[in-house]
Amino acid sequence: VVSGIPFDSATTFRPGARLGPQAIRAASVQLAELADHAFPSNVNLFTDLAIADYGDCELPSAYPTQVVERIFNHAQKLLLHDVMMISLGGDHFVTYPLLQAHAEKYGPLSLLQFDAHSDTWSDDQMDRIDHGTMFYKAVKLGLIDPETSVQVGIRTHNADTLGVHIIDARAVEEMGAAAVAQKIKAILGNKPTYLSFDIDCLDPAFAPGTGTPVWGGLSSRQAASILRDIAGINMVGGDVVEVSPQYDTSGATAIAGAHVALELICIWAATRV
Ligand code: MN
Ligand code: MN
Repeated sequence: VVSGIPFDSATTFRPGARLGPQAIRAASVQLAELADHAFPSNVNLFTDLAIADYGDCELPSAYPTQVVERIFNHAQKLLLHDVMMISLGGDHFVTYPLLQAHAEKYGPLSLLQFDAHSDTWSDDQMDRIDHGTMFYKAVKLGLIDPETSVQVGIRTHNADTLGVHIIDARAVEEMGAAAVAQKIKAILGNKPTYLSFDIDCLDPAFAPGTGTPVWGGLSSRQAASILRDIAGINMVGGDVVEVSPQYDTSGATAIAGAHVALELICIWAATRV
């Protein structure tokens, strides 16, 4: 099931990711022919899988404090039906209630996070809604196991990694995609893994339409190679977040977001089709 989470009130800088789901959907239309025979897995999304667009999670804009519960309930309801969820953000905070719902079903998760930012900056006020601190809370609450989690593409400073493995953007450049994928697989093992792709993992040259762009990021080519090479991981859910289409007159960011969503579905299918 693909569904949108059009929420961006946890954004610290430029808002607009609430428009991400509709932009990614629109961009995905031109990917339809690719999805017939996805490259290189050759999974046919329309005949090998049963996929539904569940629409968007309805959010109470006048009651921002209810958002966590609303997204959690949305995910819990779907997971009860044994579906795999691909969620389209929304700012990165939406991953927090999604992780809560997935951890309730699968137990403590491994997090595979593609991002310019760690999003583990310390924040002990559990009712704060912030797209830069939710993975601190996820570690503290035991939703994710830092020892089997990994962040890829990081290029911002955070003194405390909380024990999460980091393959920063420089390391991706120096190791090459194939070696990065091998290292990711070694860290995750066979544990249930939630894959969260913040589009700002990509360099602003490839994804300018995002709230907090940081230069020196991954190219689309590097990200595509890594995502294709990690097939075989035990992925149980995933999301693409932080696409803010209005900062991008070319539409390239939404196209990248649609490509990432397609790859996530192929990763999930790789161990099941
Ligand atoms: Mn993020
Ligand atoms: Mn980020």
